[in-house]
Amino acid sequence: MNERGKNQSDILVIGGGAAGLAAACAAAFLGADVTVLEADRRPGRKILASGNGRCNLMNAGSGAYFHGRALAEAVLERCPQAELRAFFTRCGLRIPEQSEEDGRFYPATGQAASVLDCLRGTAAESGAVILPEKKADAIVPEGDAFAVLCGTERFSAKRVICACGSPAGGRLGRDSYALLRGMGHTMVAPLPALCPVECDMRGLGALRGLRVPAVVTLARGNTRRESAGGEVLFTEWGLSGICAMQLAASAMELYGGRDCVLYLDFSPLLCLAGRRHFHTDRPVSPDAEKVYLLLRERAARESEEACWRGLLPRTLAEVIFRRARGLREAAELLCAFPLRVTGVRAESAQVIRGGIAADEFSRGTLESKRHPGLYAAGEVLDVDGDCGGYNLQFAFASGILAGRDAASHVLKRRIS
Ligand SMILES: Cc1cc2nc3c(=O)[nH]c(=O)nc-3n(C[C@H](O)[C@H](O)[C@H](O)COP(=O)(O)OP(=O)(O)OC[C@H]3O[C@@H](n4cnc5c(N)ncnc54)[C@H](O)[C@@H]3O)c2cc1C
Repeated sequence: MNERGKNQSDILVIGGGAAGLAAACAAAFLGADVTVLEADRRPGRKILASGNGRCNLMNAGSGAYFHGRALAEAVLERCPQAELRAFFTRCGLRIPEQSEEDGRFYPATGQAASVLDCLRGTAAESGAVILPEKKADAIVPEGDAFAVLCGTERFSAKRVICACGSPAGGRLGRDSYALLRGMGHTMVAPLPALCPVECDMRGLGALRGLRVPAVVTLARGNTRRESAGGEVLFTEWGLSGICAMQLAASAMELYGGRDCVLYLDFSPLLCLAGRRHFHTDRPVSPDAEKVYLLLRERAARESEEACWRGLLPRTLAEVIFRRARGLREAAELLCAFPLRVTGVRAESAQVIRGGIAADEFSRGTLESKRHPGLYAAGEVLDVDGDCGGYNLQFAFASGILAGRDAASHVLKRRIS
């Protein structure tokens, strides 16, 4: 194990994902003796899968969180982007100064593997020990310290950081929350987030494989709840693409994934108002009148049948004009094409909305308000962010804050 004797350390980190590895490095930088227990054979599996293998690790934006917003914003205020950048620099990772589209930052290598290499390498060089294939089964308070049970093994530490993540990313059966629930923390029901939406695609087979820019709005009846802009991808079972995925959790949370509609506004294709910016919670509202006038002008010059040529992909135009009675209705459909939601692709969820109640942990340090010495960081908490690097940014930043606070306590105790 480490210098202090078998299975004993200052700090035990449970989970070797983004949050756990960041916590281990931050605590080890301060001189604490750290052990990481990781259930898998290899730590950091999700880091490798993130950002299509490029790892979109943070965002220049000020934060876009749904559940757990107060905690996430406090964490990012205490560990702002400059500090995260400095942390990664210390780990040897270069991040370009300039962000990419929508404020996204990726490592300069363009490879998620570099992020994991740097975190693992730095953790080891700083003296942290990462133990793979060690699934923690329970945390047991022992006076002012903790024991962590792992099969027949028992580990002990003065401080424990629980960074078990979530069952997103193809692990829907895994209970990441059991350890903290076992310590009396409250669970907020988990829902898949950032995943494709299943829709009634009857009669829309021709659209399969089509990618177009659109603003997508989730609605039921006359109530429009949430919109997102970006590229949509039509599939045989529904709608993919980041903006559709952004609405999945709300479709589940508000309507159980049914009895609601996605309205697709294709007017960005027509470049009438400039390309709509992506990832906005206030996309420009559809302007069917403008679209109608454009179609009418085209129809007068050419013919009604050909007015869409060069404006719209053929398959989309055919679907729209087949349904519409006249140009005005075609314009309306172009601005609000309805797709009835039938479910979400939970197995493809990138994150989980829900988890361990965020308000049971200190906003500055991530320490449990119920059990001093116990911390939670990353996605195990009920914090979910938008696409664009916000989830990893929270995982890293919360891990760093928890690691630092845990280390400062054990070091104070060592001195006194
Ligand atoms: C395909 C995909 C792409 C993504 N892309 C991005 C992106 O580009 N940008 C972004 O911001 N976010 C992205 N995300 C989300 C982001 O990856 C997660 O929010 C983030 O990795 C969460 O980090 P974490 O450390 O909290 O949890 P996790 O990464 O889930 O790590 C938790 C770790 O704890 C271990 N563990 C669990 N239980 C135990 C136990 N009992 N004992 C010991 N170990 C345990 C797990 O094996 C795991 O290694 C993506 C997610 C997926 C699935």
